[in-house]
Amino acid sequence: MAYLRFKALEEVQNRPSVRVEADSNKVSDYFGENCFNLAKMHQALAPDVYKKVKKAIEKGESIDADSADAVAAAAKSWAVSKGITHYTHWFQPLTGATAEKHDSFFDASVGIERLKGSTLVQQEPDASSFPNGGIRSTFEARGYTAWDPSSPIFIMGRTLCIPTVFVSYTGEALDYKAPLLKAMEAVDKAAVRVCQYFDKNVNRVSPSLGCEQEYFVIDKSLHDARPDLVMSGRTVFGHSPSRGQQLDDHYFGSIPSRVYDFMKDFEIEALKLGIPVSTRHNEVAPSQFEVAPLFEEINVATDHNQLLMDVMNRVSVRHHLKVLFHEKPFAGLNGNGKHNNWSLITNTGVNLFQPSSSARENLQFLTFFVCTIKAVYDHSALLRASIASAGNDHRLGANEAPPAIMSVFIGSQLTAVLDELETNGNIKVEKGDNMYMKLGIDKIPSIILDNTDRNRTSPFAFTGNKFEFRAVGSDANVASPMSALNLIVADVLNDFANEVDGLVAKGKEKRLAIVEVLRKYIKESKAVRFEGDGYSEEWVKEAAKRGLPNIKDTPKALEAYVSKKTVGLYDKFNVLTKAELEARNEISYENYIMKVQIEARTMGDLALNHIVPTAIKYQNKLIDNARGLSDLGLDNSHVKSTISSISGHLNSLVKDVEDMIEERKRVNKIDDAEKKAIAYCDDIKHKYFDKIRRSVDKLELLVDDEDWPLPKYRELLFIR
Ligand code: ADP
Ligand code: MG
Repeated sequence: MAYLRFKALEEVQNRPSVRVEADSNKVSDYFGENCFNLAKMHQALAPDVYKKVKKAIEKGESIDADSADAVAAAAKSWAVSKGITHYTHWFQPLTGATAEKHDSFFDASVGIERLKGSTLVQQEPDASSFPNGGIRSTFEARGYTAWDPSSPIFIMGRTLCIPTVFVSYTGEALDYKAPLLKAMEAVDKAAVRVCQYFDKNVNRVSPSLGCEQEYFVIDKSLHDARPDLVMSGRTVFGHSPSRGQQLDDHYFGSIPSRVYDFMKDFEIEALKLGIPVSTRHNEVAPSQFEVAPLFEEINVATDHNQLLMDVMNRVSVRHHLKVLFHEKPFAGLNGNGKHNNWSLITNTGVNLFQPSSSARENLQFLTFFVCTIKAVYDHSALLRASIASAGNDHRLGANEAPPAIMSVFIGSQLTAVLDELETNGNIKVEKGDNMYMKLGIDKIPSIILDNTDRNRTSPFAFTGNKFEFRAVGSDANVASPMSALNLIVADVLNDFANEVDGLVAKGKEKRLAIVEVLRKYIKESKAVRFEGDGYSEEWVKEAAKRGLPNIKDTPKALEAYVSKKTVGLYDKFNVLTKAELEARNEISYENYIMKVQIEARTMGDLALNHIVPTAIKYQNKLIDNARGLSDLGLDNSHVKSTISSISGHLNSLVKDVEDMIEERKRVNKIDDAEKKAIAYCDDIKHKYFDKIRRSVDKLELLVDDEDWPLPKYRELLFIR
């Protein structure tokens, strides 16, 4: 092992940078080159077919058989002209990765390349090995993938990929995307209903998403010399380097050249796929970086984020690098998040979270703003559940990461606006903007412009014209948190409209009714607003006083998915049934158990087969040395004290590992997935992981560097 470490270090020394240049300096020359977007359909399809397809995409309707045939033929010709031979239905099963099964365009029965409309529209993958939480055994054995025309077809490698949703024949969703599409529809309807109070021209509202993706990059050889990184995506051992992120010198610093070349390479690939990547920079921790595309419609943004992670993984190989999307690859350093920037945009081009210079439009802004805050308050447990994963548990509440408490940050100035709106005396309908002036909402635009108040510690922050859900884990498929968010906002918007309609029916003037309901919501949801330091201990105490949940562990957090409230919500909007929610939780529990199990095994294996023998060998050298010194009549007390420290750590290490193995045997016998996940969390992870790690990390400091088998943090992290 020590050999592997030194060989890897030597390789890194001599590793050349891999320069990659795009065919053109102008991005517009190749943007979308590998994606069959609307522009390409426009060129390839007959005008009336194109019109029909475009309309269906915009309205989220299905496409008739003849048009599907035309699209299929055009997509195939385009792909074949680019040397592509195979196609696949691309989907996002609940494994968390994306799935594809390649079929050839070549149809031997007719001797030509072809893609039929029916094949484009529907496929039946042999998907029996995809997780379904028992759904397909209880309901129906077969599932199918259905084309999602709202997300463009693309070329990956040598394959034409058709974005699809994955459902069972009885209609249960077996993937991440189907619920997201339904949640989009729910928020669209509810938001349009509310917009109608302000603007009759609004007939469609679509949620937008821009994902800031954080990641670490390390050398591939060093990665491969760490079995924990290979097996679990994070380092289970490793003493922090003498220089971590204290200096904050990496943030926005210059990007190391090997990483820069990698970024340039994956960005070119991403741009060719039509993924509008726009920013790149260093993050806070050494070797940590971020990439962010321009925001897009949520469905496409979700696909593009999955695709981008895939592209980054693939491209990293060319540079002999490894991308780490794990939420907490290194203890003591910042974790990786995926900030989900979210807003609602109307067909008339208005961002509903954009304060306006028109006071009337600001009442609309405030309506959506307050309803979103209320939604987070009402369903904070669900939001927490939507981001729950074994990886994210290591991150939330640790270094520079939002806590597991869901709260909303809006900035001091908007706080003042809400306070004024809440406490203002009785208002009357008045001419012009007088009423708005009395409400204090005519001033909003100037306020936001000079609002530089940027709190980075909040899990859910308003940042000028969008909300930013920052607690989402970097490795997550964003469809789950985004389904939850859109759904809870849809729910509150509907409640809001019902209450306003009720008041109007009783004779209240519309604007007064709106203000009255907003006031009520501001009061009710106040506890979820927090402007202070979300990373502080005081906030944890304060949040407890306010009655806000602080659920640290995934197995407990997931319960919110099957609470009466959540089941009611998902059922009301016809997104997922109780059985489906339960099945999904079952998969999440299994997934959690697997992750903790792998980590526990890796720890045991590394400790007993690598660390302990290394420490004993070194200890023997010291024992020889102590004897020699004693033979010469010299003081050997310092050697003896090191031997005794090593002994102490070895004894506790071996005992803890053996106890953990025994405990695992007991826990493995638990049948119920939820109980087993809780036991893995409380009785394995919490009880043993830190203890075991502490002993190993102490040994790392005592044992000769020449003998240590694992690449150390300082070697992994300071890439050139
Ligand atoms: P930050 O200061 O947090 O880095 P940026 O302005 O760089 O913020 O934006 C981060 C992400 O938010 C980008 O992906 C950007 O496209 C996205 N974004 C900007 N406006 C919106 C919006 N109205 N809706 C959704 N995402 C948005
Ligand atoms: Mg941000």
